[in-house]
Amino acid sequence: MDLLIFKKIGDQMRKFLQSIKDEFNIIRIEKEVSTYIEAARVLREHPKEIVILENVKESKIPVISGICNSRKKISRALNCKKENITRRIIQAMENPTPIESTEKLEGYHSFKANLEKLPILTYYKKDGGPYITAGAIIARDPETRVRNASIHRMMLLDKRHLAVRIVPRHLYSYYKKAEEIGEDLPIAIVIGMHPATLLATTTSVPINVDELEVANNFHDGKLKLFKCEKVDLEVPEAEIIIEGKILADERADEGPFVDLTGTYDIIREEPVIKVERIHFKDNPLYHAILPAGLEHKLLQGLPQEPRILKAVENTVPSVKNVILTEGGCCWLHAIISMEKQAEGDGKNVIMAALSAHPSLKHVVVVDDDINPFDLEDVEYAIATRVKDDDILIVRGARGSSLDPSASADGTTTKVGVDATKPLKESEKFERIA
Ligand code: MN
Repeated sequence: MDLLIFKKIGDQMRKFLQSIKDEFNIIRIEKEVSTYIEAARVLREHPKEIVILENVKESKIPVISGICNSRKKISRALNCKKENITRRIIQAMENPTPIESTEKLEGYHSFKANLEKLPILTYYKKDGGPYITAGAIIARDPETRVRNASIHRMMLLDKRHLAVRIVPRHLYSYYKKAEEIGEDLPIAIVIGMHPATLLATTTSVPINVDELEVANNFHDGKLKLFKCEKVDLEVPEAEIIIEGKILADERADEGPFVDLTGTYDIIREEPVIKVERIHFKDNPLYHAILPAGLEHKLLQGLPQEPRILKAVENTVPSVKNVILTEGGCCWLHAIISMEKQAEGDGKNVIMAALSAHPSLKHVVVVDDDINPFDLEDVEYAIATRVKDDDILIVRGARGSSLDPSASADGTTTKVGVDATKPLKESEKFERIA
C-alpha cells in the first residue's frame, strides 16, 4: 500500500504526501465505507489528520481527504514558514510565472466519462446530492483566450451531468460570453492536485491573470501542463482529469449544500456540465474536501488574507500578520498583529481590515509580543489591554451572505477590538519573559 500511495516521481500529490508522511499522521481506514454519509462521518472523526478511505463500497477508487487541513501542511506545500504563508501567496499572485512545458496526456487511462465510477460523497443528510468538492475547473475566455482555474462545488445529477455553483466571477463571465453566442463552454475538471496548485486556483487574481501561472510560481517555474484530448485546454498533473463542457441554456437545481459556516446554503438554478472523457492515473486517489471542515475553511479563507494584509499595510506599514481564524470559519474573524508606532494605529488597522474583506465581522488587533496563531495569547491581550474606547462598533455595514445572523438586507454589525497596549504606559503592560 505504501507503494500505492507514494508511487511515481511525476505524481505531484503523492510526492507531497511522501514529503510530509513522517511529520503528519496519515490515517488509513480499511473497513468498507459507503459514499452516502458514512464516509463523511469517518472524515469528521479525524478533523485534523489526512485520511485515506481505502475501501469504498460504491467505487474501486479510494478517497483521500485533509491534505490541506492545517496551516502547517499548507506551509510545507508552499515551502515556507507558517507565519509567511500570506506573503508567499502575495508573491505568487504578483508574479505569475509563464508555463513553458506542455506535454501530451500520457500515463493516464482514458475512458468515455461515467461519473458513477468515482467515489463522489454525499456528506450530510439534507445535501441536494453527491458532491465533487475538490474539483478545479479549467477554462478559457471565449474572447480573450485567457485561462482561468477555479474551484467549484459540483452536484452529481447523473453519470454524465453535474450542476455547478458558479458565483459571478471569472468562470461565470466566460460562461455568459459563450452562452450569448449560443455555445457551450469547453472545460476540464481536475481532481487530486498538489496542494500548492489547488491553493492557487482559489486565489483572487485579476481576470487577465492565469491562476495556473500563480501555481507555477509556487512550483518555482516547474509546473507541467498536459494537453487534453477532446477540449482545447491544458491541465496540471492530477490523479483524475475530466473533460466536458458547460452547456449553454441549460440549468438545474443545485443545493442545498453545507457552507463554510456549517449551515445550509439554499437551492439555486445553476449551470449544467456535461462530461465527455475521463482520465485516471494508475490506482488513482480521489480527493474529497469535507464541507465546513478545516480543509474547506483554509482553502477558501487563506486566499483572502493577502487582500487584507495589503490594505492594512497600506494604512499602517508596521503590520506583521493577518490571520483569518479557523473558529471564525476562516472568513468572519481576523487577528492582526502589528508593531504599534503611534497611538490610534490599531483603530486604523481595524477600519482598513473591515473594508478590505467585506465579509469580516470581528477583528482583533494585537501587539507583536502576542502570538496571533495562539488564541489563548490573543485572549490574554483582550483581557489585559482592552477597555471601553478600544472597541469600535460599526452598525448597518454590508456583511457576509454566509453569516446566518446577518439581516435580511445583508447588513450586519461589525466590531473591531484594539487589544494593543497604550504606548505611553507600555512598561505597565510588559509581560514577564
Ligand atoms: Mn481568473
